[in-house]
Amino acid sequence: MCQVSVLCDSTSKPSPLDGWKSGRIVKRASGWYLCLCIDTQPQSIPVDGTGAIGIDPGFLHLLTLSTGEKIPHPHELRTTAHRLAQAQRGTRRHLTARLQERLANQRKDRNHKLSRRLVAGHQTLAWSKDNDKALARMFGKSVASAGHAQLRGMLAYKCTASGRQFLEVPSKNSTKTCAACGSLSGPTGYAGLSVRQWTCADCGSAHDRDVNAAMNTLMAGVGITLEHRRKAVPGIPWL
Ligand SMILES: [Zn+2]
Repeated sequence: MCQVSVLCDSTSKPSPLDGWKSGRIVKRASGWYLCLCIDTQPQSIPVDGTGAIGIDPGFLHLLTLSTGEKIPHPHELRTTAHRLAQAQRGTRRHLTARLQERLANQRKDRNHKLSRRLVAGHQTLAWSKDNDKALARMFGKSVASAGHAQLRGMLAYKCTASGRQFLEVPSKNSTKTCAACGSLSGPTGYAGLSVRQWTCADCGSAHDRDVNAAMNTLMAGVGITLEHRRKAVPGIPWL
């Protein structure tokens, strides 16, 4: 690692690199790169929409939104797993490092695009906060591949830079609570993990497991009780 110094012409036009403070050369598996540290303000993301949305991260689908939209999991690791395993078995360290770097880049790229779309389209975002370390122990590679922690971080700083509200809501009971009547009649525990659709035993409402959790996350995030939700929450599709 070494510091880089560059002579600048003070008479030239302003450029995005005018605020750069320092730089360093880093070595990645794919080659050498010059990283510049630039002193600048993050740009606000233009507003496409308003309203509030609940977000439930998962592994069957990457994200489920309270609008009912399900964002599929790209499973970058799954598509590269065979080549990665071959490289690791053959002790081809450089190829292994290249594949792992590509996976990380793909994950970062889709998380940037997805977080930008969500922040642009909503004024308030409520994120269902799971215990990532506990989930990693349970599901292993799926958690690392999903990159939910990275996505949550991107949403948080983009919301701050763009004047949006980002709320982290504990996920406790978000799955087993019926979003229609509030009874705790939904699936729970390991045995309930395979239950994707269920019907509330108290009010008879039919639920998609993840959409129901995203709705509960939204209502808990914006502080809406079951009694008052019909008056106050814009963007919930069943209203
Ligand atoms: Zn119910």
